[in-house]
Amino acid sequence: MEGDAVHRCAARLDALSSATVVRSDFRTPSLATADLAGRALVDTRAHGKHLLTRLSGGWTLHSHLRMSGSWTVVRKRRADGGPALPRGVRAALDLDAGAALVGVDVPVLELLRTRDEHRVVGHLGPDVLAGAPTATQEHFDHDDALARLRRDPARPVVEALLDQRGVSGLGNLWAVEVCFLRGLWPWTPVGDVDLEPLLALARRMIRHSLEHGTGMTTTGVRRRGENHWVTGRSNRPCRRCGTLVRFRPAVGSGAPYAREVWWCPSCQPAPAG
Ligand SMILES: [Zn+2]
Repeated sequence: MEGDAVHRCAARLDALSSATVVRSDFRTPSLATADLAGRALVDTRAHGKHLLTRLSGGWTLHSHLRMSGSWTVVRKRRADGGPALPRGVRAALDLDAGAALVGVDVPVLELLRTRDEHRVVGHLGPDVLAGAPTATQEHFDHDDALARLRRDPARPVVEALLDQRGVSGLGNLWAVEVCFLRGLWPWTPVGDVDLEPLLALARRMIRHSLEHGTGMTTTGVRRRGENHWVTGRSNRPCRRCGTLVRFRPAVGSGAPYAREVWWCPSCQPAPAG
C-alpha cells in the first residue's frame, strides 16, 4: 500500500473524530482484553504507511495495513451483534455517531500511550506527504530526507526509495514509476543519483494522487492497462519508446526492499560496461 492510500484512510477515520466508542471488539490476541468503550476518538493521523488513531485519555491505536488491510466505516451494528462482521475482521468499534469502524486483515494493531508514539514511528524518515491535513509532520525536512537516502551510497536507488527509514510513504508503485520518469536504471547506486528532482517529482505525484483521489494511476489515465508507465507491463511496449518493458521478480525473502521491478531498457539504460 502506498502512502497516499494510507492518508486517504486516515482522512476517513479522522472524519469520525469526537465520536465516542460504545463497544469495542478486538480479534487479535494481544488486544483480546482491551476495552475502549467510553473513549472518544480525538483524531487520526498518518506517518508514512502507519496510522495513529488517538483516543481520549492519552491512548493511541496504532495500525499498519501492509498490502491488504483496510479500515472501513459501516452502519452501526445492532445490539444483538448483527449484521455479521465480514471475515478477517481484527477490530470493530461501534460508535455513538451511528457508525462502526471495522478493521479487516489489519496485520499490525496495537494500543499504546500517545506519548509513546515515537516507539512505532520514530525510526521513519520524513513523510513524503508531510504537510497534508492528515500528516503528523507539517514540514517535509528536505535535508534530513536527502541525508537518510544517501546513507548507503552503493545501494540501488529503487531499494533506497522503498526503505521507510529514508523517506516514508513510498511503496513499490511510486518507486518504480519515478525511476522510469527520471530515466533512471533502477539499480543505479543512490550515491550517483541527482536525488533532489527525483524526490520532488515523487512528492508532487503522490501529493497529486492524494488531493485528487486518483489512486493508483501514475500516467493520469485511470483505465486499467493504461494507468502505469511500466509497473505490471512486462513484455509490453514501453508507452514512450515502444521497447519491451522488462521485469525482475522480487528476489530473496530476507531482503525486505527487494521487490518486483519493471523498467524500460531504452528509457532507463544501465551504465555501459
Ligand atoms: Zn522506453
